[in-house]
Amino acid sequence: MKLAVFSAKPYDKRFLSHVHAKNQHFHSSVELAFHDFPLSSHTVPLAHGADAVCVFVNDTLDRAVLEDLNSAGVRAVLLRCAGFNNVDLEAAEALGMFVANVPSYSPEAVAEFALALIQTLNRNTHRAYNRVREGNFDLTGLLGKTLRGRTVGIVGTGKIGIALAHILRGFGCRLLAHDPFPTSAFDEFGEYAELDVLLARSDIVSLHCPLMDSTRHIMDEQSLRKMKKGAMLVNTSRGGLIETHSVIEALKSGHLGGLALDVYEGEGALFYQDHSDDIIQDDELMRLMTFPNVLVCGHQAFFTEEALTEIAECTLRNFDDFTRRVPCQNSLVREGHLLVKRGSHPVRI
Ligand code: NAD
Repeated sequence: MKLAVFSAKPYDKRFLSHVHAKNQHFHSSVELAFHDFPLSSHTVPLAHGADAVCVFVNDTLDRAVLEDLNSAGVRAVLLRCAGFNNVDLEAAEALGMFVANVPSYSPEAVAEFALALIQTLNRNTHRAYNRVREGNFDLTGLLGKTLRGRTVGIVGTGKIGIALAHILRGFGCRLLAHDPFPTSAFDEFGEYAELDVLLARSDIVSLHCPLMDSTRHIMDEQSLRKMKKGAMLVNTSRGGLIETHSVIEALKSGHLGGLALDVYEGEGALFYQDHSDDIIQDDELMRLMTFPNVLVCGHQAFFTEEALTEIAECTLRNFDDFTRRVPCQNSLVREGHLLVKRGSHPVRI
């Protein structure tokens, strides 16, 4: 069985190959073919001859790509991530293809990174680092705020939102949360509120809901205006949750006090590649990077050894379920009578 791995970076090759070699009793019939570029309508011919493709957050699996894969005999899509907004699940289901994700890989890794972004921006360590390297030890402009007693609004109390709540409780923050599906797991940390109330009361808003039709641009001009003046917005979830043009205006007016992004709406064209010799054409991203109170990282919140190990193990387990035709608990599409998907949020039974 051949698995064509797209967007394969050296670290993907290392962790997948290691897990593959370590579990030879399971995966002896699996052959891994690595491609270091993303899957798209241009690169889909490279998957011909494979039984399955293994993809990441910025690979394109729209209807056309899925149809091409399917007609070439590729029967399975294995996501090396939790989010699946880049896959046309309806098309995959109609084609009878298997699609599975890695629903959880060290949610603490992402939550800890969100905290790192919050504290970097809040205490200006990104600016201090550059200043000190040039022999400038002046503190002017580096003033921060003590986190203890601050109100943090968590949008989405799934695995990562709850992991962040654990961390922020240790800092003595007051916590608010918004989620259309509240969980009792949050009860010990704070209280749920409507989104408008959360935005109006929070000093820091951290986004942890998935990108779906209903959450696209959840932070638009209107909702940004509802935020407390001077508050900070943090996004480690998906870029499409924030309307970039509006967030730039909110920063320019000073209403938004800081913005920390690990993900960006237009990241597909840039992230995970070295563009240091290129003239970057994305004017909105370049404008964002001119603000002293904006921090942009290249979708790395998940990037820990533990998470990469979990991703490799789970991806190959999903492939194993597919090849053995046994129920896969991470499947995102209906397969016979085993699995269901409701709306754009997967429900597993
Ligand atoms: P999860 O499925 O455990 O939790 C998502 C939560 O969001 C759920 O509780 C859901 O009810 C809630 N939600 C749905 N719609 C909402 C809305 N309109 N408002 C508020 N909440 C809403 O997912 P998770 O593991 O916590 O991951 C959250 C997101 O983080 C993923 O969807 C993914 O996009 C992103 N992520 C990013 C990285 C990274 O490296 N930056 C890594 C992993 C995951």
